[in-house]
Amino acid sequence: MNIWFATNNAHKKEELEAILKFSLKIPSDCGLFFNPEETGTTFCDNALLKARELQKLLGRNEPVISDDSGLCVDALNGRPGVLSARYGNENGVKLTSLQKNIKLLDELGNTQDRSARFVCAMVFLLSADRFFLVQETIEGEIVKKNEMRGEGGFGYDPIFLVKEYGRTLAELSSEDKNAISHRGKAGKRIALLIKTI
Ligand code: IMP
Repeated sequence: MNIWFATNNAHKKEELEAILKFSLKIPSDCGLFFNPEETGTTFCDNALLKARELQKLLGRNEPVISDDSGLCVDALNGRPGVLSARYGNENGVKLTSLQKNIKLLDELGNTQDRSARFVCAMVFLLSADRFFLVQETIEGEIVKKNEMRGEGGFGYDPIFLVKEYGRTLAELSSEDKNAISHRGKAGKRIALLIKTI
């Protein structure tokens, strides 16, 4: 049985395969053009929307996994949240991850409350109205300005401090990150669920 993953990002595919411990197919494996508009206002909405879109594109009820994730900073009232991937984009100009991180640190300034979390909603869709949805988090703190560090991971990892480790997510190995991350925890729950179906 094929299980699809509603993403175009080969890095995300590899990461989720390592968590789930089985292979996934993504649209580009079959030359499919998949570019859904993420119009939802919650992570759950967007995860479900992407899964349904891919199943529609496939034209058959093959199971689809989809996720939506982002960084929620308390002092910014939960922003960038569902807009994490688009944070700072203006007039068609997209910021790099480094530029996004600098912008976020600038926006926070010297704010005392640095608490933040990554959120990941993940859905396992069997047919348009039959699905299983989980949402997981990892709690942390945004580093102070000039304390961005680490080479691993992606996105906001270099500015996200995991207090228990005293390190940013970008300083952890991918195995250590997957063991504690929002996506790692959500993926493990989905894997357990799939075994029971
Ligand atoms: P999406 O889930 O692919 O729509 O994008 C989520 C966005 O949130 C990414 O482009 C990153 O900017 C950010 N993000 C989500 N998970 C992580 C993570 O584990 N580390 C760093 N950034 C993340």
